Amino acid sequence: MSNINIDKEFVANTYARFPIEISYGNGSYLYSPDGKEYIDMGSGIGVTAFGIADEHWKNAVIEQLSKVQHTSNLYYTEPCAQLAKMLCERTGMKKVFFGNSGAEANECAIKVARKYGADKKGNDCNVIITLKNSFHGRTLTTLSATGQDKFHELFQPLTTGFVHAIANDLDSVQKLVKNNNVCGIMIECVQGEGGVNVLTKEFVKGVREICDNQDIIMIVDEVQTGNGRTGELYAYMNYGIKPDVVTTAKGLGGGLPIGCCIMNEKTENVLSFGDHGSTFGGNPVCSAGAISVIERIDESFLNEVKLKSEYVFNALKNASGVESVSGMGLMLGIKTVRPAKDVVAECIEKGVLCLTAKDKVRLLPALNIPFETLKKAIETIKEVCAK
Ligand SMILES: *Cc1c(COP(=O)(O)O)cnc(C)c1O
Repeated sequence: MSNINIDKEFVANTYARFPIEISYGNGSYLYSPDGKEYIDMGSGIGVTAFGIADEHWKNAVIEQLSKVQHTSNLYYTEPCAQLAKMLCERTGMKKVFFGNSGAEANECAIKVARKYGADKKGNDCNVIITLKNSFHGRTLTTLSATGQDKFHELFQPLTTGFVHAIANDLDSVQKLVKNNNVCGIMIECVQGEGGVNVLTKEFVKGVREICDNQDIIMIVDEVQTGNGRTGELYAYMNYGIKPDVVTTAKGLGGGLPIGCCIMNEKTENVLSFGDHGSTFGGNPVCSAGAISVIERIDESFLNEVKLKSEYVFNALKNASGVESVSGMGLMLGIKTVRPAKDVVAECIEKGVLCLTAKDKVRLLPALNIPFETLKKAIETIKEVCAK
């Protein structure tokens, strides 16, 4: 029996997989067992930030793997400490909690906002505002945070205490602040799963102001937008604001499971001994991989991300069959005349793997995708869109 059929029989039916098995890869290329080559324009879902089997990342991971692959959080390890220091130095924030996924990073942020509210204003101060069309994860609490009804229907009752404002509509945020006892506001600067929607500067700055005025914790969910994806180390850096809590995951580990919740001077001491924890959190191998990712995202690297982004915007904006292009850096959404699903299916046949987000074709290539490879993929996508 093929691996595809074994998977169909034995793996839970939660994913609509394409009928492709990936057996190995190199950089921005993936290969199926029969040797068919694909350009990877998804990097997982924005996870393999430096592509597949990247030498620098691989060496960092293997070196740590041969020293110690896990200790409990009862002891210190170098990669965990060094990664936390690096993240704080690069963001100006103060402390990091490590988990293993985006949802866990957000769970931690939600606990921070709730405890801050309880400490400052009492236990009733526990409501968190998120945006419609947002995506914050699959645990029951992060599902509640997610502002899309379709995720809620089957799993009632969900965690209470989440209300949803309209993206880029400050009045809708103001109203919810007025009518609820709000401890936190959580946003994605660019909504990923919601359709690659970019928040305006005015809105993000406005949310920061509301949070300052009302002593509310501002959480920026950088699970998808973080770690160089938008052309800055974190997407909030495009907006000239500083959040109180930043969560990130996906690209951070370069393909290994790691998520984290980064706290500033206002929130660094909200959680104390016993308030939170994770058995696998801060794993030294994942942390070593993450260090190798973050240490390479410097200004010149980010400039290259921006140049590649400009290239894609220019190549697609007037292309036939393309209605519009949205996004930032190498997080891009293409509104196509043909249904996005059809475009993606045909791109696969032509050897290019893309993603979708709502009704758009979504691109999240490796940040170090060579220009030539990027051009080749964009030519194929253009061809398919024009049909
Ligand atoms: C993917 C994603 C999550 C969830 O991350 P998991 O690692 O799947 O738990 C949360 N927030 C955003 C913005 C995401 O894109």
